[in-house]
Amino acid sequence: MDLRYRKTIIAGNWKMNLNAEEAKRFITELKPLAARAKWCDIVLCVPFLQIPAAVKAAKGTKIAIGAQNCHYEPSGAYTGEISCGMLAEAGVKYVIVGHSERRRDWGDTDKLVNQKVLAALQAGLRPIVCVGETLEMRDNGVTLDVVRMQVKTALRGVMLEQLRRVTLAYEPIWAIGTGYTATPQQANEVGACIREVLRQNYGARAARGVSILYGGSMNTGNAYQLLAQPDVDGGLIGGASLRTESFGKIIEAAEQHE
Ligand code: PEP
Repeated sequence: MDLRYRKTIIAGNWKMNLNAEEAKRFITELKPLAARAKWCDIVLCVPFLQIPAAVKAAKGTKIAIGAQNCHYEPSGAYTGEISCGMLAEAGVKYVIVGHSERRRDWGDTDKLVNQKVLAALQAGLRPIVCVGETLEMRDNGVTLDVVRMQVKTALRGVMLEQLRRVTLAYEPIWAIGTGYTATPQQANEVGACIREVLRQNYGARAARGVSILYGGSMNTGNAYQLLAQPDVDGGLIGGASLRTESFGKIIEAAEQHE
């Protein structure tokens, strides 16, 4: 992380976990720690139905509420979908776009990810855009090529003035929910590669201002080292974001890097 230029963001992705009561309790427990956090922006990406309870519980705190997906159209015949405008109206600030579970299970292609990024920005949301390679891609030595392409496609049509509302998350698929974590060097190498794509497309100044997170089995044991890397500006955290204790410890690890 480099606090001179960009924010540190610690974001939890609860996936399909925690009910409204548990969400409220989690946020209540996290509040004292959030109040002490000097450098970190704290984000909780909760299931759609938990958004109202989470927004209410987080009111007046440093905790921002995010969603885990969105549709790219503002309204229409899209059964079961939620638009970015609806999320914004409900008090959501961030939305995860292109998570590998959605790419894998719901057919979110790079093109669809791009449409969702543009829709999120249009609605005033901050997209957290996930990119990352499979183990096979890594073994074949094409990680950086794949990630470059994912980033370029996801950001097609994003204007310079919109870029500061975009967060990238490098999430190697082989590390998500598996207990395997990228080494700090691997995470930083890909983070730096993403920033280079941003530099080529938007210039050095804009690229310096974008937070690039790492996600993939980040936990209380590895967070400090990962977050010490210059191109790892925070974490997108699944499993370890489900308990205040572990999530809080990761926030504390981030806060130690001044
Ligand atoms: C994720 O789902 O974005 C994630 C990083 O999960 P986990 O931390 O459980 O690997």
